[in-house]
Amino acid sequence: MLVDYHTHSSLCKHADGSLEEYIVHAVAMKLKEIGCSDHSPMPNDFDIQHRMTIEQFHQTYKPEVLALREKYRDRITVKFALEGDFFPGTEHWVREFNSQHEFDYIIGSVHYLGEWGFDNPTFVHKYEERNVDEVYDQYYDHIKRSAAAKLFDIIGHCDLVKKFGHRPSKNMEEVLREVFKVVKSVDMAVEVNTSGLRKPVKEVYPSEQILRILHEYKIPLALGSDAHSPDEIGRDFDVAKQLIEKYGNGKISVFTKRQRSELRVS
Ligand code: ZN
Ligand code: FE
Ligand code: FE
Ligand code: ZN
Repeated sequence: MLVDYHTHSSLCKHADGSLEEYIVHAVAMKLKEIGCSDHSPMPNDFDIQHRMTIEQFHQTYKPEVLALREKYRDRITVKFALEGDFFPGTEHWVREFNSQHEFDYIIGSVHYLGEWGFDNPTFVHKYEERNVDEVYDQYYDHIKRSAAAKLFDIIGHCDLVKKFGHRPSKNMEEVLREVFKVVKSVDMAVEVNTSGLRKPVKEVYPSEQILRILHEYKIPLALGSDAHSPDEIGRDFDVAKQLIEKYGNGKISVFTKRQRSELRVS
């Protein structure tokens, strides 16, 4: 049985399709669960061009997801979730917001290093102006802090910094071990996110180097397509399934009201 725990909708202004269209695709793919995990609202209009407003969360996102959960309950389990952002200084707001609603899970992602939206194609030229090794160090420092902050349940696309194919000149093994020791200590899951296959890097997030570490540390895996259009639901899950068999003992994490349990993928 498979689930897709990383999906978006037109509410975030850079994805196509209504929440219901994603669910309809997930039903057609015979998924057991679909998690609605659109980009979380943030305080002070942070990155407002890539996410719903706080008002849209209350007036549209939350009531629609909960209504769709009822409407489709005989066909698929719909989870009420978010993709949150780790951005230093917003932790208190995020903690409050996450505790005020009965989310099934929250993905924690790093999309910003300071002002730089480093995964945004518009700003890809900044990699040329920066030392890529330093970018990698800064990125993994943020991932480590995002785990230590204990705001989220799943680490999203944990090596997103490779998205456009920039590679560090040094071996990251020691840095990665430090990061995932912290992830293990806070008992988070890490997602296998197939969207990297659709990006210039043409690789699943995380890399096999990281998956080996996750396996060694017995860190549970989650699964998502990061669909930004309904037809991307479940995309490349045959590839993901092989990685989950190899590095996750064939099991993925599912969540209800932020409690994790395990599901066998075959
Ligand atoms: Zn997005
Ligand atoms: Fe993301
Ligand atoms: Fe996403
Ligand atoms: Zn994402």
